[in-house]
Amino acid sequence: MERMSSPVRFRSSRKDKEYVGFATLPNQVHRKTVKKGFIFTLMVAGESGLGKSTLVNSLFLTDLYKDRKVLNAEERITPTVDIIKHTIGIEEKGVRLQLTILDTPGFGDAVNNTESWKEIEDYIDQQFEQYFRDESGLNRKNIQDNRVHCLLYFISPFGHGLRPLDVECMKALHEKVNIVPVLAKADSLTPAEVRRKKMKIREEIEYFGIKIYQFPECDSDEDEEFKQQDQLLKDSVPFAVIGSNLQIESKGRKFRGRLYPWGVVEVENPAHSDFLLLRNMLVRTHMQDLKDMTRETHYENYRAQCIQSMTRMVVRERRRSLRDKIQQGSELDIPLPLAVVDGEKERLILEKDEELRRMQEVLERIQDQMQHGQRGGC
Ligand code: GDP
Repeated sequence: MERMSSPVRFRSSRKDKEYVGFATLPNQVHRKTVKKGFIFTLMVAGESGLGKSTLVNSLFLTDLYKDRKVLNAEERITPTVDIIKHTIGIEEKGVRLQLTILDTPGFGDAVNNTESWKEIEDYIDQQFEQYFRDESGLNRKNIQDNRVHCLLYFISPFGHGLRPLDVECMKALHEKVNIVPVLAKADSLTPAEVRRKKMKIREEIEYFGIKIYQFPECDSDEDEEFKQQDQLLKDSVPFAVIGSNLQIESKGRKFRGRLYPWGVVEVENPAHSDFLLLRNMLVRTHMQDLKDMTRETHYENYRAQCIQSMTRMVVRERRRSLRDKIQQGSELDIPLPLAVVDGEKERLILEKDEELRRMQEVLERIQDQMQHGQRGGC
């Protein structure tokens, strides 16, 4: 008898005439993606004045906040958080990036900040909902992806670790978005203070069960230098950052920095801050992983919940209609078997109910696995 399948053996083709040509596959994928351009949405949150807009400008070398109106204390007293969207197109070496920055002015500013993250949560859910609708619609090929791929959460350098608001907010959002915590205005701390604050924040993140974005595990066959860089990145969380809109010229060098009477702080100097680590992570090394995590974990979670509640609704609706029919039958004095034996139909309905119930169970299990089986600790 002929074997239907056999293990695939790879042989490399040495001679030119054996060259098939699929080695260009990565180039083809690359060209297609480059043509479409990349889309990335970054949200920033944290109390006002922590340097969010300055950092975003420094990260992407733009001035996104030209028209920003900084609110006075009276205007900020109402507990509302606005979501402000800035979109820019950046092109580098022929590669286009459509970057959307979502700012959250008003966050943590009110006298009572209970649930001040609600607006953020609703916004993230709305983007998932829109995507879910588009995916189920006719024009599935041209879906605009507005899902939030990363949340830079700014922690004050002046407190003792996390504030209750930080804990509550991150816990409310951690199942919906990749949270990357940053320690703001790191130039206001000495190196020893930075180390201590980072450690305290990491401990609190663990203690309160906050699930921040986990960097993927490094492959064992990566070279030593790559592994060291990867470990450095993981150990640096929360990233201690410094931002500045000022270009300084000193000793023939031009750089972004902050000028103080006692010296100069360089934004991109690794001895002064983790700015470069953060930018490299966001732009060079982990942008795709942040998008993958959004799609595979956060969005899938949302989608499973949606399908589950839709299934529940259908099951409830069918049960109700079946009950109505049985009741109608007894009111009209039709013997029960006859009423139900619109028979074959009702049996099918019950079978479908059972099928839906099983689907629901499977979905619940998948969701459970997704929630518990996510990546390991940082
Ligand atoms: P936002 O309200 O969080 O967007 O904060 P801004 O970016 O508007 O910054 C508020 C103030 O903090 C401004 O005066 C900035 O110049 C200053 N600032 C921004 N980044 C830093 C930083 O890294 N260190 C220090 N010391 N000040 C900063």
